[in-house]
Amino acid sequence: MSGLAAAFALEERRRAGESLAYVLFEASSHFGGVLVTEVVEGCLVEAGPDSFLTEKPWAADLCRRIGLEDQLIGSNDAARKTYILVKGKLIPLPDGLMFMVPTQLAPALLSPLFSYGTKFRMIRDWRFSPRHSNGDESVAALVERHYGGEMVDRVADPLLSGVYGGDASQLSVLAVLPRFKEMETKYGSLSRGMLAARKKGKQSNSQPPPIFTSLKNGMQQLPEAIGANLAPGALFTNSPVQAVQRQDRGWIVSAGYASDHFDAVILATPAPADYVPPVRRVASAERATPALPAGDAPPAVVAALKAWRKQRATADRVPAYVVLSDAHLEGIAATGPRSLDELARCAGIGPTKLERYGDEVLGVLAEVLGPPAD
Ligand SMILES: Cc1cc2nc3c(=O)[nH]c(=O)nc-3n(C[C@H](O)[C@H](O)[C@H](O)COP(=O)(O)OP(=O)(O)OC[C@H]3O[C@@H](n4cnc5c(N)ncnc54)[C@H](O)[C@@H]3O)c2cc1C
Repeated sequence: MSGLAAAFALEERRRAGESLAYVLFEASSHFGGVLVTEVVEGCLVEAGPDSFLTEKPWAADLCRRIGLEDQLIGSNDAARKTYILVKGKLIPLPDGLMFMVPTQLAPALLSPLFSYGTKFRMIRDWRFSPRHSNGDESVAALVERHYGGEMVDRVADPLLSGVYGGDASQLSVLAVLPRFKEMETKYGSLSRGMLAARKKGKQSNSQPPPIFTSLKNGMQQLPEAIGANLAPGALFTNSPVQAVQRQDRGWIVSAGYASDHFDAVILATPAPADYVPPVRRVASAERATPALPAGDAPPAVVAALKAWRKQRATADRVPAYVVLSDAHLEGIAATGPRSLDELARCAGIGPTKLERYGDEVLGVLAEVLGPPAD
């Protein structure tokens, strides 16, 4: 989507009379990346994203510009209920919880989703003073500072893995939830910040807009409609870019057997899965005891933990990363915890994961490393 959106911005400038040409290289056989819509037994099923946040206006603007305005549809928020599975029971998210921020204290304090410790932190958050920081950090680090690790495990991780397919300790707060950072800087308390934003929204518009916007006949229409608006000769599928080299004041781009010279290059590829961005290192440092770099994780231990994770994910019918991400398994393997206390200090292990997987992970480590010394 990012590549298509960038190409469409260039196409608009070309149509406005600017003298420019562009080429879009796509490695796979289709444009749109994970945006895929399927129809299964007459039901429309989104295989990737199913909507975008209404408060971020750019996606809806783009839809209007490519002729999809009549497809825009808002979420039915009154009928939407989200449940979290805790110890085999489905518990509804309490009313007033916006993402991970309680905007009404009573329902949050009465909810069985949270322990007394988390409820105490929710009350304490209302008294937080404004906090200035320029740097980025993980969503987990920010949420944990306000509401503790349980809020990360029970709310932030499930919600964010649903939206981004990633876990909160690996997602940059500036990329994913920049508003949280602004609220912390201005109000200190996230709850007070969220209420102020809602009040402002109500003043300017009596009917609050739907939280999510989607496309009636599926999100895949978005890449398809953008593709139809681009110059056909500029689009290349099945063309993975193999090299980008600086030359003179431009770039040589090699895709397949051909190479060409370009004045500028926009990279819209995913970050490699084993790239550890600085933000994750910050998160690990805040949440965990210093671990050896993941590169120092003994391969046999990593392999044993991955084999266990595969079995566990299959039994629970969840994707493997929902059990524990590769980075977290490597962190555990590098640290080699031998007790629940030590395991609890590893990145990615909050109270829920400790309770659910702690004994099994220690069992795997005991098998590979031998029983822990008394
Ligand atoms: C299951 C799931 C559900 C999601 N739900 C939502 C949601 O509801 N709302 C929301 O806002 N977001 C959601 N997201 C996140 C959203 O889908 C992504 O943030 C977004 O699609 C990323 O777009 P992108 O263009 O940056 O990357 P991608 O979609 O990953 O596109 C990158 C493209 O680069 C191509 N490529 C890679 N290497 C090369 C190469 N060497 N040469 C040429 N091409 C190459 C790839 O084939 C791919 O097409 C979801 C994600 C997932 C996985």
